[in-house]
Amino acid sequence: MDQTLNLEPRRVFDFFQAMCAIPHGSGNTRAVSDYCAGVAREHGLWYRQDELGNLLIRRPADPGCEDREPVILQAHLDMVWIQHPEAAGQGIRLVRDGDLLRAESSTLGADDGIGVAYVLALLTQKEGPFPPLEGLLTVDEETSMEGAERFDCSLLQGRRLINLDSEEEGILLAGAAGGVQLDVQADLEVRRPGLQQPVMVQLTLSGMEGGHSGMDIQKGRGNAIREMAGLLADLQTQVRPTLCVWSGGSFPNAIAAQSQCTLALEETALEQLDRLVRQAQEHLQSRFDRPAISMTWSQLPLSPEGEGLTQAALSRLLELVRQVPDGVQQVDPLVPGMVAVSTNLGVLSLDGGTCRLEFALRSNLPGEKEKLTEQVRALAEREGFSLRAHGAYPEWTFRADSPLREAACRVYRQLTDRSMEVTTIHAGTECSIFADRLPGLDCISLGPDTWDVHSTQERVSISSVGRVWTFLSALLRELGSSADSHP
Ligand SMILES: [Zn+2]
Repeated sequence: MDQTLNLEPRRVFDFFQAMCAIPHGSGNTRAVSDYCAGVAREHGLWYRQDELGNLLIRRPADPGCEDREPVILQAHLDMVWIQHPEAAGQGIRLVRDGDLLRAESSTLGADDGIGVAYVLALLTQKEGPFPPLEGLLTVDEETSMEGAERFDCSLLQGRRLINLDSEEEGILLAGAAGGVQLDVQADLEVRRPGLQQPVMVQLTLSGMEGGHSGMDIQKGRGNAIREMAGLLADLQTQVRPTLCVWSGGSFPNAIAAQSQCTLALEETALEQLDRLVRQAQEHLQSRFDRPAISMTWSQLPLSPEGEGLTQAALSRLLELVRQVPDGVQQVDPLVPGMVAVSTNLGVLSLDGGTCRLEFALRSNLPGEKEKLTEQVRALAEREGFSLRAHGAYPEWTFRADSPLREAACRVYRQLTDRSMEVTTIHAGTECSIFADRLPGLDCISLGPDTWDVHSTQERVSISSVGRVWTFLSALLRELGSSADSHP
């Protein structure tokens, strides 16, 4: 352990530093899982490691707390491993800048190494009396959540779970979105344009802001695919172009920031096209107040073989893109200001008549993503498209009544004289999987102040790690003592 960094609380940072010495990027967690199993063995604690490397460690109740409900403490073992190429092979080298801890030339792995360190420290320390504890350490949260997904939840005795994968001190996460991806496709009717004086034109829309389809969906950033569809609809009524190729967006769960398409039209229509493109550009600028947005056209060398959509097929496609629900659909009735249901048309591709649209749906409320799927299906089928839903994951619905959340808020107020902010997130977390598998689960998520995770700028506040440690110890003592803490 490098003691020159002077990291307190020692118990937490000793485990964190030990983990930093073991490579543990997603997909490479066997060694770190073995290390944690070794900690359990050393302290005489019962543990079980599954074939993926998920680890469950039990700490019996302290004297006087034997009749208390167990508490599950959960964190993920893997980290997003990014390193500057010139530092290859060097592992995590910790750097302290005042209150901040970061890594030289790589991700730090505070997400979620600090969470794992809390779990190990709480399982092995003597600051109780604590109720029975179950430490659950999962693999591959950052890539597929396969660890949580495939963990045998029947091993868990507790129905109260504290997840330690959040990034802002004083904020308690109490709900998360479920989701599903939709692929909508059709083979649309194509023909040769049959123009008198054909020209080929490329339209390009770029510079929109984009973002995460869950966390940024309420920010009104606009969807480049739908903006392009608006221009194409105007063009269709005024110059009747033949749409040959169209693409937009990059991932279903990212807001589309760019789109481009190739059109065939009469040379005599170019002037009108130019006018409509300029209008679209001005309109976008005034709506989004973003100088980077650019809608432009350019002439391409003529390719006489090019086929494109018939006007009827183009109408059907534009109708679908413009009518399908996109963006925020519902806000949360229980959590002010939080998005509860949304869709995102993230990817569109059209080439040779084969057309595919990819959507990410999210919902924090039970049953809503299924309803929305059927709504999109009805629209798609009306325009001759078929829909396939896949990759569904469950929601973690906010509980109006949560004794665990109330205990956490009470302890936080006692310690800091401030109210803890309770919120939900419009994105998936491992808690959603556990909330789905363990009926009646009472669950919260929290963590210390961490910034720019998943990048080499990642850093954590050392003093915040200490305050959250004090809070966690106090919360567990509260859960070990108060008789009303049963779920
Ligand atoms: Zn994480």
